[in-house]
Amino acid sequence: MIVHEERANQFKRLISILREDKRGPASAFTLRASQRRTGLMARLFQAAYQPDAFVAWRSPFVPTELFYAMDIVPFFPEGACSMLANSRLVAQALDVAKKNYYSGDACSFLRCVAGASIEDLFPAPDILVCTSICCDGAPKMFYNMSKRYKADYFLLDIPYNYNNSEAVDYLARQIEAMIKAIEKKMGKKLDPERLRKAFSFSNEARSYFLRINELRRHVPAPLLGKEAIDCAAAVASTWGTEKIVDIYKLLYDELKERMERSNASLPEARYRILWRHLRPYYSDAIIDYLENRHKAIIAFEEINYIPWDELDADEPYRSLARKILANPGIGCLRHWLDSTMGFVEDYKIDGVIEFAHWGCRHSDSMFQILKTALKARQIPLLKLDGDCIDNRDYSEGRMKIQIDAFLELLGGKK
Ligand code: SF4
Repeated sequence: MIVHEERANQFKRLISILREDKRGPASAFTLRASQRRTGLMARLFQAAYQPDAFVAWRSPFVPTELFYAMDIVPFFPEGACSMLANSRLVAQALDVAKKNYYSGDACSFLRCVAGASIEDLFPAPDILVCTSICCDGAPKMFYNMSKRYKADYFLLDIPYNYNNSEAVDYLARQIEAMIKAIEKKMGKKLDPERLRKAFSFSNEARSYFLRINELRRHVPAPLLGKEAIDCAAAVASTWGTEKIVDIYKLLYDELKERMERSNASLPEARYRILWRHLRPYYSDAIIDYLENRHKAIIAFEEINYIPWDELDADEPYRSLARKILANPGIGCLRHWLDSTMGFVEDYKIDGVIEFAHWGCRHSDSMFQILKTALKARQIPLLKLDGDCIDNRDYSEGRMKIQIDAFLELLGGKK
């Protein structure tokens, strides 16, 4: 086992930057489930800095169940940047990335990871695992980081034609080969019992989250978008832990309780919004403006869509391959468009807002096609240009004016 003594200093450096910052946390959650989820993520974040932990950096669409079955701590560097977006770390890391020739045209999440690594603020990985889709830049950034840390890099090549058994086999073989290589590096075998447990926790958590998404179809909405977006279930690192089962169960119970107490206690909604992509993590102002001031409730957001089936521990690699391939962002844009139009129907959506994060080609590519499809259904679409973690060009006033005009349009339709 490699002991990474350097992680103690990496953590100290990170904390000293956060301590210098006078800004408080951006969000204060009222739901107990949200508070517990934040606590779990903070503990996982910290676990990646333990010198004797075996740490795998993972990109957003790499499943985590196998990691937990093998005592591997997953570290999601782009997610870490969003957790730290309310500190000066992001601007500092982006400046460092710029000085090191990372183009400003690239996504700020990826540049922030590069800069934070050059500043030696993130925990040194033992391995890095990335998927070739859905993020354009992540394979290159992960490759660069593997060179920087001299750590093994696994790139899972996702086939464009996803919907057939050859695609599942092709991906399953890669996952199996990766696990064999990790077993060799760790000097221990994947325990089938531990795997069964991790899959079972993941399936149970999935079942609660599907029920939560079902409750959210209710009018009035039992959950605000502000409370929901940060779950980011589609990319979360918590699948396969026992704790996330309790947290999603609690969230389900809290929503049921809200609904049973009285429909009148649910937030009043003038409009139901579908939110695309992520949000600005350094400020809640825009979401608050939308939901509190204008009563335009985010009824659903695609980052919480669960498209995969239950995992099957009897064929783990094929099962995880199917989980990855279920992502609607894979293959022809029709795949993605169909799921988005399904949300419009299921969640009785009045208008769609796309938070167009700078540099995310993957998400931006869908805009024109979605606009045309929504227009045919007379559903307005607003594109809010911005950046999820870099607040230096953030213009709250401009966004509020755009939101006002958009809601006026929605009002005219009612
Ligand atoms: S925002 Fe888009 S480009 Fe940036 S890390 Fe996420 S998927 Fe990749």
